[in-house]
Amino acid sequence: MRIGVDLGGTKIEAVVMDDQGVIRHQARIATPRAAGYAATAAAIAALVRQLEEKAATPCTVGIGTPGALSHATGMIKNSNTACLNGRPLQQDLERLLERPIRLENDANCLALSEARDGAGRDYGCVFAVILGTGVGGGIVINKTLWSGRQRIAGEWGHNTLDPQGPPCYCGHRGCVETLLSGPGFFADYQRHGGLSAADAPAIIEAAREGDPMAKAALDRYGERLGQALSVVVNILDPDVIVLGGGLSAIPEIYETSRHALASWAFTDHFVTPIVPAIHGPASGVRGAAHLW
Ligand SMILES: [Zn+2]
Repeated sequence: MRIGVDLGGTKIEAVVMDDQGVIRHQARIATPRAAGYAATAAAIAALVRQLEEKAATPCTVGIGTPGALSHATGMIKNSNTACLNGRPLQQDLERLLERPIRLENDANCLALSEARDGAGRDYGCVFAVILGTGVGGGIVINKTLWSGRQRIAGEWGHNTLDPQGPPCYCGHRGCVETLLSGPGFFADYQRHGGLSAADAPAIIEAAREGDPMAKAALDRYGERLGQALSVVVNILDPDVIVLGGGLSAIPEIYETSRHALASWAFTDHFVTPIVPAIHGPASGVRGAAHLW
């Protein structure tokens, strides 16, 4: 049995998954972010023990979280749960749970979950991306996560898409994330003079009703997505591209991005499927469980 934990900014979800990928038990608590780092680590350990008791057998433990694990320091960085940044969460959980655990970022968990038994299950090389509050990606080859020497494999969210683009928290300008995240999409609409829509879902609605500003923003989004993905395709040439995260639920972006990707990729016959993730928000816990 495998326990997967999805450590989010507002909630911590955990499941017990069997060898067939069936969820046997699940639990969810609010992230005790106000109580700080030690309380958060203790809450995760308590949740794991509670589920292990229900499973009535020792379980492996995998944790998925936004942000990244620094190979150099063993610390978490760039997490939106700020109290985790600069903390050795893996070592501390290993001490609390008295066993080795595995920790990966949410995009790698999505990629693993979709490659094992989701939208990428019939393919050898899966590139999966999160298009949400942030943008990340992960690579799974023959059902195994490819992490890379610095553990940044698949981190296309901070490839430069437009050197003159908006500033990014990472220190560069025009990163994929600054244009293809939900906030990035909305900011782009506003920069081009869009006023009527108050948030990203409202832009989509307005575009469907024929609002030219909203329609143009949605078209730019799809075209940029295709251009950004072409960089990955020219290097990795994956068998399938899986889109996850909130913006992956916008049907219009699949056709626009495919068209743009076909024009940017170094091939005259682009056939790679671009498909939505199957497990949706459950990808975090499922992928974390699949880390073992
Ligand atoms: Zn960046």
